[in-house]
Amino acid sequence: MVKVKKENKSDIKTILAKNVFGIIVFLLVIFILSGYLQKDIKEEKNITLTELVNDINAEKITSIKNTNEKIDILYKDGLEKISKKEGQSSLTETLSNLGVDKTKLALTSIEIKDDKSAGYIALSIFPFLFPILLFFLIIWFLSRGMKGAGGQAFSFGSTRAKLMSADGQKEKITFADVAGVKEAKHELEEVVDFLKNPKKFASIGARIPRGILLMGAPGTGKTLLARAVAGEAGVAFFSISGSEFVELFVGVGASRVRDMFKVARASQPAIIFIDEIDAVGRVRGVGMGGGNDEREQTLNQILVEMDGFEPSDSVIIMAATNRPDVLDPALLRPGRFDRRVNVELPDRKDRIDILKIHAKNKPFVKDIRLETVAERTPGFSGADLHSVMNEAAIFAARENRKEITQDDLIVSIEKVMLGPIRQTHVMGKKEKNLTAYHEAGHAIVASILPYADPVHKVSIISRGRAAGYTLKLPINDDKKMQSKLEFLDDIAVSLGGYVVEKTIFGDLTTGSSNDLQVASALARDMVTKYGMSDAVGPIALEPAGGRTMFGNGVEAKNYSEKTNEFIDNEVSKIMKEAYARVLEIINTNREALDGISKALVEKETLEQGEYEEIIRGFGIKVEKE
Ligand code: ADP
Ligand code: MG
Ligand code: ZN
Repeated sequence: MVKVKKENKSDIKTILAKNVFGIIVFLLVIFILSGYLQKDIKEEKNITLTELVNDINAEKITSIKNTNEKIDILYKDGLEKISKKEGQSSLTETLSNLGVDKTKLALTSIEIKDDKSAGYIALSIFPFLFPILLFFLIIWFLSRGMKGAGGQAFSFGSTRAKLMSADGQKEKITFADVAGVKEAKHELEEVVDFLKNPKKFASIGARIPRGILLMGAPGTGKTLLARAVAGEAGVAFFSISGSEFVELFVGVGASRVRDMFKVARASQPAIIFIDEIDAVGRVRGVGMGGGNDEREQTLNQILVEMDGFEPSDSVIIMAATNRPDVLDPALLRPGRFDRRVNVELPDRKDRIDILKIHAKNKPFVKDIRLETVAERTPGFSGADLHSVMNEAAIFAARENRKEITQDDLIVSIEKVMLGPIRQTHVMGKKEKNLTAYHEAGHAIVASILPYADPVHKVSIISRGRAAGYTLKLPINDDKKMQSKLEFLDDIAVSLGGYVVEKTIFGDLTTGSSNDLQVASALARDMVTKYGMSDAVGPIALEPAGGRTMFGNGVEAKNYSEKTNEFIDNEVSKIMKEAYARVLEIINTNREALDGISKALVEKETLEQGEYEEIIRGFGIKVEKE
């Protein structure tokens, strides 16, 4: 990757800039050294004026040469010495003041020279000039530093887009590196094709979409896809993150956009990729207090630039977001990001493919079954699967093994899903018992209710923030829709732990807080989004993603006080009904509950097989349709 930044500094300036510290140090060394040298001379050859007078009187001296203050003395025995006098006073006067014998002085030859050469002047003013010079150098250096660190404070607006050249990338990413996401890949292959031979499309009168918006949950591979397009197309590829637009100075975002489009136009065919576009592309005009002006100007500039393309321009703009619901409608208008591509979470088959991609270059034991990993990871994104693979490799390496085992992978799934095991958390006997009952409560409700997912594992080992966990796996994990009956059963399962704590222990712990949040949110969605409450009826009271204000999603209430009360009543009704169902299940299956809890306290973790054996023993059917 190369930064596209105008490098218009002259060579000498760059050299100076790079070596500024070197130069300062060099000057300092010279300065100090010259001082030392002078001192050396003084120590060896310097004599005082009195000594000089004595030597003249003793007729030891052949000649004296006087330049400014300096006196060079040549002795009869060939020795050379120096002395110094005051600058203004004349040499003969000084000597006679010190009592020189005038006749003896006449015997020595005296030469007086007045040196006003540039060298001498420079040397004499250098000590005064040096600190001033140093001062300016430091100032200059600091101002340069600001430019570098503060995001080009002095080169406003120049684009910060990164250019990924087709062959300059360290590791070239192609479509082969992206598994699943067929729809998106298909769409983008078309783009690549167009960029490679635009004539083919132009001759048949086809207009290729100008803007393509990749939408999908975090980690589904949007950024990866964009890089793959760069690798495939072999054209100039400018990549910038939405947040980089809004980084530093007010008013720069817009000029950055202008610069980036200008550079891209000049180097077409090209792709511009704006990652996390929701950072600049949120709905305009909902913020208060003008804090959003900068963002709006940037967004406006993007719109202006996108409208400013000629039909013949082969520049394509790609953008990615995981919040398409908050984007400004103007961005989605025809002619702008009118092609919207869903990047979906992978289904089971896709997960196998993604795992295979990330299994490359990793040594596994022979009978490894990536299918099992795929089965156990519904809802995982590509990024999650990537970290499962990575965690497994780390596990193996930490135990000094040369190959990754199936167990490494299974352990990693739980680590990615729930966070690391809390090694330091040692439970007391009472806490252990309570946690066991809490988890058994979730498990048994899940096993009894017909629409809840089957239990896959129960554990009272603390992970992340949870004291214990009950894992369920859907029978058909690639189903896209959920029904009201499923929602109701899910809410009941979430309440399982809470009800057990309350009825069996007569007390409540904070351990249920997350369960309650999940359950209430589900109940609320049923009422306000999916029309699943009879009292409120078939109205979607809230848009799918909430509304935006101050640039953030907030739960804006666009319904009346009365409706609000209705909603609260409905949610609470759903929760109370669920509570009653759970209570009933627990009372009628008390023995099974005790059995599961006992086994949990003993073994801490029950895998699917062990768990099902226990509940079968109490006459509970395991199979669901
Ligand atoms: P996003 O931009 O959608 O949040 P990224 O593209 O940054 O997600 O994905 C993060 C990482 O997850 C990628 O670098 C890649 O290793 C992995 N990944 C995600 N989706 C896929 C996929 N479909 N195929 C292969 N790897 C994937
Ligand atoms: Mg991304
Ligand atoms: Zn719980």
